[in-house]
Amino acid sequence: MIGIPLIKIDVSEYGVDMKKIAKLPRPICSSCGLIKRYLMNKVPREMEANKIATGHHGDDFLVFFFKNIMGGNIEWIAKFTPLLKSSGKSIARIRPLFFVGNEDNEKFCNAVELPYIREELCPYINFKRKIDKSRKKWFEIINQIQKKKPDFRERMVDGIAKLAKRIYSSLEKPRECKLCGEPTNAEICGFCKLIEMSKNKK
Ligand SMILES: [Zn+2]
Repeated sequence: MIGIPLIKIDVSEYGVDMKKIAKLPRPICSSCGLIKRYLMNKVPREMEANKIATGHHGDDFLVFFFKNIMGGNIEWIAKFTPLLKSSGKSIARIRPLFFVGNEDNEKFCNAVELPYIREELCPYINFKRKIDKSRKKWFEIINQIQKKKPDFRERMVDGIAKLAKRIYSSLEKPRECKLCGEPTNAEICGFCKLIEMSKNKK
């Protein structure tokens, strides 16, 4: 609609076999997320892009924040900022909607008739089931708090961004994966491990 070419990639060209990955004893959404994060850094970088913008909004980050705090994944919070600077082979990430709430985002899309996917369906779970019920519940919780405390969202995402900066500076610098050369915190990156594991599946 705005004249920017849409680039589609075929994950099988990168050795990904979703059918096999779906059979692994790990949640498919987490495998899918890992593949997405890996390719959304590698592909644009190889096309000489210097930034990647994602459409996550403020409520997404609030949900990620609560979920990760509750799951004890403190390091993940380091990435919850409106701008994540480039480092080594990781290209910079920007989140233009970081301070925008879900409802405002939806209202805007409807007002300018911007098409978007309303139902998130995944062929690897149960085709008829909406996969992200918990996200919806979290959005409702955030809206309830917001009603009682109108500056909740704004101040909370601002606080998260500040905390993220602190955590980020305390983290080890990523190294390069021994197999593929992409950025990772381990010797072999999660993507390569996943592909390796899926190869053994029939
Ligand atoms: Zn790798």
